[in-house]
Amino acid sequence: MRFMQRFHLHPFLIGIFPVLSLYAHNQSQLEPNAPWRSLAVVIGGTISVFAILYLWFRDWGKAGFVTSYMSLLFFLYNPAREILHNVHTSNFNLGWNRYFLPLWCLVLIWGVWVILKKIPPRDTTIQLFNFIALSTLVLPIVSIVSYSISHPSANVIQPIVDFTQRNNAANGNRPDIYYIVLDMYGRSDTIEKEFGFDNSSFLEELRRQGFYVAACSTSNYSHTVMSMASALNMNFLPALGNEFVPGNKDHSRAATLIRNSAVRQYLHEYGYVFVSYASFFPYIDIPDSDIYIKIPERNDNIQPFELLLIGQTPLKIALDKIAAKTAESETIRLFGKNYDRTVFILEDLPQLPTKVKSPKFVYAHLFIPHPPYVFGPNGEYVGNDERLNGGPYRDPVDEAAYHEGYTNHLRYLNSVLPQILNQIISQSETEPIIIIQGDHGFWGDADKRLPILNAYYLPEKDVSGLLYPTITPVNSFRVILNTYFNGEFDLLPDENYPTVNQKDYYDVQRLAQDAIECKPK
Ligand SMILES: [Zn+2]
Repeated sequence: MRFMQRFHLHPFLIGIFPVLSLYAHNQSQLEPNAPWRSLAVVIGGTISVFAILYLWFRDWGKAGFVTSYMSLLFFLYNPAREILHNVHTSNFNLGWNRYFLPLWCLVLIWGVWVILKKIPPRDTTIQLFNFIALSTLVLPIVSIVSYSISHPSANVIQPIVDFTQRNNAANGNRPDIYYIVLDMYGRSDTIEKEFGFDNSSFLEELRRQGFYVAACSTSNYSHTVMSMASALNMNFLPALGNEFVPGNKDHSRAATLIRNSAVRQYLHEYGYVFVSYASFFPYIDIPDSDIYIKIPERNDNIQPFELLLIGQTPLKIALDKIAAKTAESETIRLFGKNYDRTVFILEDLPQLPTKVKSPKFVYAHLFIPHPPYVFGPNGEYVGNDERLNGGPYRDPVDEAAYHEGYTNHLRYLNSVLPQILNQIISQSETEPIIIIQGDHGFWGDADKRLPILNAYYLPEKDVSGLLYPTITPVNSFRVILNTYFNGEFDLLPDENYPTVNQKDYYDVQRLAQDAIECKPK
């Protein structure tokens, strides 16, 4: 243990910690080699700072402790700023760089002064710092190793549908199925009430194209993961596993149900290719899709993990500034990733009819109109607007900004969707089935959170006996599998189970029938 006493390992360990812990947190989303370059840069940077400070102080002890302290502040910059985002009025936010950066500099100067004046550079102090820094690495290393052992490869598909009742009719020209989920797209009457935004021309356009709009639809659940697990498995959560109980904050069962859904399995039996888009929201990401469409990175020089790491540090300010000026580094924009992903999917969807062989089941989950509010009404990028995204938890700063952001997103979506849907329909050899659905409504209590957009394009069918205004997502695929695939699924009651405790998703309570009024538009 002699060298634990003599050598300043702590500046290096303190630099390595954020890399490893960030990687441990996002391991399921990252390539195994993602952290190597960052580790090399951090170690190289630490050596440089350490050397420069030694030349300045001519004292290894002072140089070592100051390096550690600087490293600590460097990597805590944005996490600390996130916390101070809560100290705010409508025009002032302590988390904004213009206030936070000078504050952090004062903390730096004060700390360096304390180190130089008060901390004795004795062997015991070095040993203590080394020991503390080393012990912080234990948790991320254990986490990385245990994840690597427990996740050797992709998911195993376990059948959760009873296929015995399936009537294996001739495949014929099966229609492609497009399930387009627009995260947080509410219902037109509640949108009008909340935002004063008239959505009727969009619904008229959908109807003109042949869509049936379920004008009094609500989501069965109030949160994404629960809604999608339920809709894609055509059932309420308690019927899909006994994990969905209050107090359980582990969503892995729901994630498995979304990945290996009953609908996917059922259609697989009919020879359908399952197509999905890569997602940074892990529960919606389905890498084992038959066709898993990755979102092209605009900037290959900086990897996603490295952007995450830079996002912790004040370097982000500089990168945002560069990004605002240079088109190539656009992914560095605040929330640029969601913007790029959305634009990519909207451009890619109309190409799928000819690009991917039929029959196919496409699950396209777009995080819009959900915040961050990255689209202006004409599709222009507005993600760096601090009014729209600079509030606590990166929310809009006030209600006016929230209304503006949400209706911006609606305006943009409504202006591009009809054309996209029209192209999907006209480019498909066999007329496709299309569902456009909100996974839940917008912020607020159940009367705002549950009403959703829910529209269906069912080719060659008289929908009057099949669809009805109050249909909920739990029945969407029951209707489709019954109508087109000889399914014999009884429709379930269109019940709602909103979460009553926002800190505990599975703490749900059944809503009384007719608790939410509907003024169909
Ligand atoms: Zn959602």
